[in-house]
Amino acid sequence: MSAGRGWRRLAGWLALLAAAALLAAGHGRWWRLPDRHNPFAPLSLEEAPGWLTRYKLARLSAEPAACQAFIDTTPLQAQPQPDRVTGPGCQLSHTLLVRRTQVQVGEPFTLTCRAAASLALWERHVLQPAAQAHFGQPVVRLVHFGSYACRNVYGRAEGARSQHATADALDVAGFVLQGGRRVSVAADWPGDDAASLFLRQVHGGACGLFDGVLGPDYNAAHADHFHLDRGPYRLCR
Ligand SMILES: [Zn+2]
Repeated sequence: MSAGRGWRRLAGWLALLAAAALLAAGHGRWWRLPDRHNPFAPLSLEEAPGWLTRYKLARLSAEPAACQAFIDTTPLQAQPQPDRVTGPGCQLSHTLLVRRTQVQVGEPFTLTCRAAASLALWERHVLQPAAQAHFGQPVVRLVHFGSYACRNVYGRAEGARSQHATADALDVAGFVLQGGRRVSVAADWPGDDAASLFLRQVHGGACGLFDGVLGPDYNAAHADHFHLDRGPYRLCR
């Protein structure tokens, strides 16, 4: 048998295998690829974050309609806002006015759809399971320092615009549990009790779902809040 014929036969087998796989995936009669392992399936709030979650989140950034469709499946009470340029280097593009997430949020805030998608996943798969694990109670309220602000990093006069300038970031200061207990980043991060462990868990868990995650260990400017952003840089500190 010539080498050329061997290769052709192998190519034939591979084509047959690929066709069978496509048939099986499309048909779904005997077996269907689970959505969390299927890169073409839309992101689902209920599916546990996995190896495709970041890819699916990135796809929502490129597809505003798909992002909105995802938000519509979440408990977020969020109203789409018109796109507009708000200042030099500042703009609102595909943003939502968030009045409530899975929990109360106090003052409504403006957030990009993609950051809101990360927030919804984080609350569902990181925040609430951590609250149950450490306190046996759900979080009922998010305490925040706001999201959109047309400013530079740290509010400096010079330098790069903050992710807050495009409403791609939310500053979270703490949480209120169902029983009324308050857990704050400022007061509870430094300890070694349940509240501190809870905060460390929700901070660490945010790193898989947001891009930039900064807390008290990063610098003094973040001693009293978690900065959670969807931005160009991945940073988890
Ligand atoms: Zn921030």
